[in-house]
Amino acid sequence: MNIDLKNLTIEKVHESLKNSEYTVTDLVNEYLKVIKEKNKEINAYLEVYDDVLIQAKKAEEMFKNGTATLMTGIPIAIKDNILFEGHIASASSKILENYTATYDATVIKKLKNAGAVIIGRTNMDEFAMGVSTENSAYGVTKNPYDTKRVPGGSSGGSCACVAMNGALVALGSDTAGSCRQPASFCGVVGLKPTYGSVSRYGLIAMGSSLDVIGAIGKNISDVQIVFDFIKGQDKMDSTSISSEFYKKKIFTKPVIGIPRDFIKEGVDDRILVNFEETIEKLKSAGYLIKDIELPYVKYAVPAYYIITPAEISANLARFDGIRYGLSEKADKLFDVYTKSRGKGFGKEVRRRILLGTYVLSHGYHDAYYNKANAVRKLIINDYNKAFEQVDLILTPTTTGPAFKIGEKINDLVKMYLEDIFTSPANMAGFPAVSIPSGFVEEDGKKLPLGIHFTAPFLREDILFTIGKDFEKLV
Ligand code: GLN
Repeated sequence: MNIDLKNLTIEKVHESLKNSEYTVTDLVNEYLKVIKEKNKEINAYLEVYDDVLIQAKKAEEMFKNGTATLMTGIPIAIKDNILFEGHIASASSKILENYTATYDATVIKKLKNAGAVIIGRTNMDEFAMGVSTENSAYGVTKNPYDTKRVPGGSSGGSCACVAMNGALVALGSDTAGSCRQPASFCGVVGLKPTYGSVSRYGLIAMGSSLDVIGAIGKNISDVQIVFDFIKGQDKMDSTSISSEFYKKKIFTKPVIGIPRDFIKEGVDDRILVNFEETIEKLKSAGYLIKDIELPYVKYAVPAYYIITPAEISANLARFDGIRYGLSEKADKLFDVYTKSRGKGFGKEVRRRILLGTYVLSHGYHDAYYNKANAVRKLIINDYNKAFEQVDLILTPTTTGPAFKIGEKINDLVKMYLEDIFTSPANMAGFPAVSIPSGFVEEDGKKLPLGIHFTAPFLREDILFTIGKDFEKLV
C-alpha cells in the first residue's frame, strides 16, 4: 500500500477511510514506515507507543459500527508533557524519565473517544522551557528542512514530526510561542487557542496563567478540526471556558492592524520583505490594513521572564524526589530533595526555579513580580484598545528563519527574544496562529517563514477564516 502522506488532510483521510480505499492499519503503517526511516536523524519522537496498531483496530471498529468521527483513525503525535494513561510522560526531563501517567489528560480522553490514533510522544525543551529543543534531556530535534538547524521550541518535536510526515497532526503546548515559533521554523500551522478554551488537566504545568494546549497541522483546516475536538469546559480545570461562548458569531471581512513600531528592531531583513509581501497579498485580496500602536507590548518578554519563572518555581516544587519520578538516596529527607532536584533538572530549569524563587521572595515580590503583573495589565489594555479599531493583529512569527543548532545556546537574551512576537498573546490570553508565508534560501536549503495573526478573546473563528484565505494566496 502506498499512500501519499504529503498531501493528506483530515477530511481527505476521513473520506478514504469511509470509502474503504485503505484501512486505519494501512495508514498507520505508512506513518510508522516514515518514522522508522527518518526519526533516527530528526529525533522528533522520543517514543512511538507500542499500542498504536491496537488503537488502529479500535478505530476500524468505529467505522464498522457507524460511530466514527472526523478524527477516527487520524494519526496524531502528542508533546511529551501531556498525560496518556499507562504511557511515559517525561516533559523531556531526567526527573520524569520513567514516570508513567496514571490518568488521561482531558484532551487525550477526548481524542480517544473520537477514535484518534495517538502515535507517540514528541521531544520538547525540558518542561517546555526554551525555543529550540536544545534544552531537552534527550538530545536536540533537527529541523527537517535543514538538519543543521533547530526546529524551534518548545514543541519542536511536534512540529518537526508533522513536517517530516511522522503524523498527520500533533498537539503542543504554548506558554509564550511554543506551538507557533516551531511551526514557523518547520513550515506548518501552529495554533495557540484562547487561554482556558482547552482544558489543562493532565498537561504538566509550566506557567499556569499562560499555558494552553495547541494544535499543529499542515493546514488551517486540520488545526481547526483538532481544536474543535479538544476544546470545551472541564470540571477538572477551573480556568476552562464553556464552548457555549463560541456560538452565534457575526462575521464580516476583518480589518487587520499592523503595529509597525513594534516590528522594526532586531528583525532579519528577509523577514521584513516577506512581511511586506504578505501585507500586499492581503490587500489585493480585499482586506483593509490599518496601522495601530501597541506601546507596551515591547515589554512582554521582560515581564514574561519574571511572571513565568515565578509560576515555574511554584509548579515544579512538586518534583521533590518523593512524589514523582527520580529519587536519589540520602540519609536526610532534605538531601533527598536537593539531590533529586539537582540531578533531575537541567540547567535552564534550575535557572528559572532560582529566578522565580527570588522574584517571589519577601522584600522583592513588589519590585519584580507585582511590577511584571502591572505591565501585563498594560499589555492587555493595549490589545483591547487596538481591537476597538481592528479585528486582527498581524506581525511576523519570528525575527528570523530557523537558526543553527548551537548558534544561540550561549546567548540567553537572544534565546528569550525569540518570543518577542508570540509572547504578548499569552500575556493577554488571546488566540493566535502562525501560518507558513514563504521560504528563504540559505546554505542551499529552503527555510520556511511564518506570519502571525492575533485575534480577540474567543475569536479563533476569525483566525480560521483569514487563515484559509491566506493559504490560497501564498
Ligand atoms: N520560549 C518560551 C520559554 O522558554 C516559551 C516556551 C513555551 O511557550 N512553552 O519560556
